[in-house]
Amino acid sequence: MAKNDIGPPNYRDMLPPIVRENYGRWRQHTIPQPGVLCHTSESGAVLTSVRVASPRLVSTDWVRQICALADQFCDGHIRFTTRHNVEFLVSEPAKVEPLLERLEAAGLMVGGVGNAISNVVHTQGWIHCKSAVTDASGLVKAVMDELHPYFTGKRDVPARLRVAVACCVNMCGACHCSDIAIVGIHRTVPRINHDMVSKSCEIPSTVASCPTGAVRPNPKLKSIDIVAEKCMYCGNCAAVCPAIDIMDPVNDGVSIWVGGKISNARTAPKFSRLAIPFLPNRPPRWPEVVEAVKNLVEVWRGNAKPGERMGEWIDRIGWERFFKLTGIPFTDKHIDDFTHATTTFRSTTQFRF
Ligand code: SF4
Ligand code: SF4
Repeated sequence: MAKNDIGPPNYRDMLPPIVRENYGRWRQHTIPQPGVLCHTSESGAVLTSVRVASPRLVSTDWVRQICALADQFCDGHIRFTTRHNVEFLVSEPAKVEPLLERLEAAGLMVGGVGNAISNVVHTQGWIHCKSAVTDASGLVKAVMDELHPYFTGKRDVPARLRVAVACCVNMCGACHCSDIAIVGIHRTVPRINHDMVSKSCEIPSTVASCPTGAVRPNPKLKSIDIVAEKCMYCGNCAAVCPAIDIMDPVNDGVSIWVGGKISNARTAPKFSRLAIPFLPNRPPRWPEVVEAVKNLVEVWRGNAKPGERMGEWIDRIGWERFFKLTGIPFTDKHIDDFTHATTTFRSTTQFRF
C-alpha cells in the first residue's frame, strides 16, 4: 500500500512484540499487588504492566526519566492510559521487581489498578487555556496529596474511583463521566470593552461562539451585546474575543459533581450530577475543595457495598440519603431548570425530602 501522511499510523505497527504475537489470545489477568497487572496468554506468555501516576503536564526531564526506565526494563515499551497513567509493559518477569525498586527510588507512585483511585485526569488550567477559572494541575496536586493512599493501595476502596478536574464548564476532561468531578465555574456575565471589539475581534465568529445565542451584534457601536438572562457563563465568547473578559476573582469558584461512570459493567454508563454548587477558588492548596472531596470519598467508602461505584451507591440509597450522609446542604441550585427538566422530576406523594 502506498505510504501517505494522512491520518494516524496503524496502531498494530507500534505494539510490543509480546502483544502482537499474542493478539486476541490473552486468557486471564490478575492483580498480584497494587499497581501491577499480570496478563497470561494461551501460549503461556506473561505480560506484566506496572502502572505509575503521571502529573499529565510533564517536563522534558520527567519524560527522559520514564523513557530511560522503559529502555532498561521493557525494551522501550510504555503506554499512556486514558487517565494518563503510565504503564511499563514488562515481558520478562525477572525484570518486574528491579523495576518496582527503581520506581520507588525515583519517587514515582505505583498504583491505580482495580479497586483504587486511578490517576486524576485533568485539563489545561492557567498554564494553557484562556477560559480557565482555576488551575487544574494545582488542584490535582492538592487533592492527591491527601488521597494518594487510595491510589497506592495503602487504603482500600470498595470499587474503582475515577476523579477528574476541569478548569471550566467546557469540561475538556472526563468530568461528565467520573465518580467525582471538580469543575471550575464562572458566575458572572462577561464584561465587554466596546472600544476594543472592532480592533481585536471578529464579530460574526464571536456571535457564533455562544452556545445559547446570548451574544448579539451591536451595529451602532460596531461591537456586540450580551443578553444577561441567556448567558450560562461558559466563557466561549471570551476565548475567541480578547475584548471580552469573564474572569472574576470574587465570584468564580469550584463546583463538585458525583456519580458519573463510563463503564458498562453491572449498570449503564451515567452522567455526573451536581453535589456542591460552589466552593471558593483558593490556590495554591484549595483547602475547601480538598476537604469536600475527601469527605465524599470517605462517606462512600464507609457505606458502599463491595464493587459499588459512587453513582451506583447513590442510586441504591437515594439522593435524599446521600445529602444527609455527606452533610452537603441541598439548595435551589441542585434543581434542574432546563426547559424539559419537569419530565424528569419526581412528583408523586411518596416523594418527601
Ligand atoms: Fe480551557 Fe475549559 Fe478546557 Fe479548562 S476545561 S482547558 S478552561 S476549555
Ligand atoms: Fe454566551 Fe458563554 Fe459568552 Fe455567556 S459566557 S455570552 S453563554 S459564550
